[in-house]
Amino acid sequence: MKYEEIVKIYDKIARTTKRLEMTDHLVELFSKVDAEVIDKVTYLTQGKVYPDFDPYELGLAEKMVIKALASTSGLRDNEIEEIWKEKGDMGLVAEEAISRKKQTTLLEMTELTVEKVYENLEKIAKASGPRSQDIKMRYLADLLHNAKPSEARYITRTVMGKMRLGIADMTMIDALAIAFAEKEHRDEIERAYNVCSDLGKVSKTLAQEGLEEVRKIHLTVGVPIRAMLAERLSTLEEILEKTDGKAAFEYKYDGLRLQAHIAQQKVGLYSRRLENVTDQFPEFKRDLLKVFKGKEGILEGECVPIDVNTGAFLPFQMVSHRRGRKYGLREAQEEYPVHLVLFDCLYLDGEDLTNKSYEERRKQLKKAVKPSESIMFSEVLVTDNADEAEEFFHKSIEDGSEGLIAKSLDSLYAAGSRGWNWIKYKKDYKSEMSDTVDLVVVGAFAGRGRRAGTYGALLMAAYDQEEDRFKTICKLGSGFDDEMLLALPKKLEEYKIDEVHVKVDSKLEADFWFEPSVVLEVLGAEITISPSHTAAMDSKRKGAGLAIRFPRFTGRWRDDKGPTEATTTKELVGMYESQLKTLE
Ligand code: AMP
Repeated sequence: MKYEEIVKIYDKIARTTKRLEMTDHLVELFSKVDAEVIDKVTYLTQGKVYPDFDPYELGLAEKMVIKALASTSGLRDNEIEEIWKEKGDMGLVAEEAISRKKQTTLLEMTELTVEKVYENLEKIAKASGPRSQDIKMRYLADLLHNAKPSEARYITRTVMGKMRLGIADMTMIDALAIAFAEKEHRDEIERAYNVCSDLGKVSKTLAQEGLEEVRKIHLTVGVPIRAMLAERLSTLEEILEKTDGKAAFEYKYDGLRLQAHIAQQKVGLYSRRLENVTDQFPEFKRDLLKVFKGKEGILEGECVPIDVNTGAFLPFQMVSHRRGRKYGLREAQEEYPVHLVLFDCLYLDGEDLTNKSYEERRKQLKKAVKPSESIMFSEVLVTDNADEAEEFFHKSIEDGSEGLIAKSLDSLYAAGSRGWNWIKYKKDYKSEMSDTVDLVVVGAFAGRGRRAGTYGALLMAAYDQEEDRFKTICKLGSGFDDEMLLALPKKLEEYKIDEVHVKVDSKLEADFWFEPSVVLEVLGAEITISPSHTAAMDSKRKGAGLAIRFPRFTGRWRDDKGPTEATTTKELVGMYESQLKTLE
């Protein structure tokens, strides 16, 4: 299949922000693609070459992209940098540079196929060692040499990990259902994706073997499954109502969610974003093998840092010291030891437990593990009584947890989805808005005076799950110390874009715009109605959205959360309403 054909469809997708139109274009794409290469096309459309849990990454440095462009277009490095200054997006720079390429070389070009593009991208992802950037650069140059200008735009964006088509996985699933099955089968296709976390595999199975085979996709030890997420409510009575009058209330530990895959004396650990983090927690690798009594299994839990002196839980921040840390791991282990608090069992000795009830899974978890000093079970109370739950909640806070998560006793494990079968109840719902929210950076305002050269404030957004868009909710300027302030431009640089991102709704004109990526934890005094922000627009007053008054950065970068895992506008409406109730 010609790469140009899919590029033409990408162009159409790039011109719309409407989910239904995007779906139509994707249906056209999937219908045209040869089933042999549909997995590759799926990954390419997601802007990658492998599923998320695969360790290989494209990640080509800008410098190398400029070199590759220079060597193919005949332009000098500084000419390319000039175009870059003007356009601000390397994809557009590539398009321009390739269109200026000398005419004669056009004769020597071979048309790019999807297979060829994918093959080179794969080589780019896999290149390692001291000369890897150079090797990657050469494979890119080879593609650019044969690329038409519009093809060069998408190839360049892909190697830089910035595809920017703004297509949600769920939209791809809608399109796959329409193209290869019936619309009403989309949930079954989604389920397959949620358990295998690999949309390429799902699309290929569907296109080649049909829905029947997709139904047979099950979870596999060693392949992370997309995490089940929780809704939130502000009273225990409402929670009990949602859970048919009775629920299991578990401590909500403040740490890092981990999925442990154990088989044949081997352990794999995955984060909530499905990254392989096994090497960051060697102690769990060792201890899990000691406490696990089955042959193979998938367990889920929260990794929490412990105060060596008191044994009490420490703030989450202390685990984040571990993340991405290759050196000094031993010191980190001694300084900030961690415990793994297990709360679920998704698979045990050949049996998929995600289709079993919470109660059954908990039973299997107890059967599978003999707890030790560092690996334990989450505290739980099963009750139908709100007062008893309230008492348990206070105990949980005293013990250093964030609150409770209520779980419906008969609920199945709904991978990848947020629903009412798990409901969080956090301590700060009690007082105004002393609860934190996780917001996405979408823009910034230039700093003045002491803040000249960095940002004066960031434009923050919440995630609107219904529309799959980001809506602004506040300008955030407090809570940053000098060191963080200086680090901000660098931290955000790679997400900088020329104009407001296609998925962001903002009434404010920021000085800088970013791709929604970086998530920060924010604490505010109160949620108010504001005509300047777009979060939950029209829901409380026509023409106005919600805003956070006096927002402060808590100092906690939520690197473990992707932008679509930020606090949702729906949750904020709930928080606004519970605030009113508190005032009554
Ligand atoms: P939040 O990050 O506020 O959306 O809350 C959901 C997160 O709470 C999950 O992703 C887990 O990391 C964490 N968590 C802590 N304790 C539990 C528990 N007992 N059951 C489920 N999730 C828990």
